[in-house]
Amino acid sequence: MDLGLTGKWALVCAASKGLGRGCAEALVKEGANVVITARGVEALEATAAELRALGGGEVRVVAGDITTPDGRAAALAACPHVDILVNNAGGPPPGDFRQWDRDTWIKALDANMLTPIELIRATVDGMASRGYGRVVNITSGAVKAPIGVLGLSNGARSGLTGFVAGLARSPLAARNVTINGLLPGAFDTDRLRVTLRAGAKATGQDEEAAADARRRTIPAQRFGTPEEFGAVCAFLCSQHAGYLTGQNILLDGGTYPGTF
Ligand code: NAD
Repeated sequence: MDLGLTGKWALVCAASKGLGRGCAEALVKEGANVVITARGVEALEATAAELRALGGGEVRVVAGDITTPDGRAAALAACPHVDILVNNAGGPPPGDFRQWDRDTWIKALDANMLTPIELIRATVDGMASRGYGRVVNITSGAVKAPIGVLGLSNGARSGLTGFVAGLARSPLAARNVTINGLLPGAFDTDRLRVTLRAGAKATGQDEEAAADARRRTIPAQRFGTPEEFGAVCAFLCSQHAGYLTGQNILLDGGTYPGTF
């Protein structure tokens, strides 16, 4: 299937590793030009070199913190125009809400709610004027089924999801601008490994034993891969997905137990 992405410009945030990188790779393979961002320039350049070697679209890099106004301005400036926006950033830390003061909450809201909203604000009217736009927000399965220790993530991402549910149904939809959430369950990335290591340490378990125990809780009996995540993202960004908006697509190997 030709996804119709050749020559489109995509801004993929937080994409030197993990799920963001998976999305960037899938888009480049489909012929889209991408601007990828991350804080550390070294990992970013290494990823860019690998993406360029795929021989797809053009790859540009912007080093900076996407949760800051400067980081967002630099990312937007590197894109001639934005047809596709993949919102992503690091997730907030786990913990007990009794320990979280206002500043802790503001940091989580900035990263996982307000940064995507600011980037949406900067790009969707241009998308609408060109008659093509795709926004994919990488959130979390925690939006559908909250994870107790990830209260900051549950709260901030649910705020984004609620806002987007309204915006996606605005007149933007008639201009072929779609906005959807892509909700990862357990994907084999650095972030998952850090979480597993911390959990194993807390319970005195071996890290691999902890990983195996987690895999057994997933009907698919394995973690997802960034490539699988990227493939779904690329489809959501494709010309075929213009009638799919305001949805939250869960990719979790069957973990969520509900019928819907
Ligand atoms: P990862 O740690 O593997 O990769 C994160 C990427 O984001 C890296 O390239 C890093 O450099 C970049 N980054 C982080 N903060 C940034 C910032 N402020 N500005 C610019 N770049 C930044 O993480 P991942 O597993 O790919 O997770 C991506 C998102 O998905 C996170 O918000 C995470 O909480 C969420 N998530 C992941 C999983 C999972 O199983 N992997 C599950 C649920 C939710």
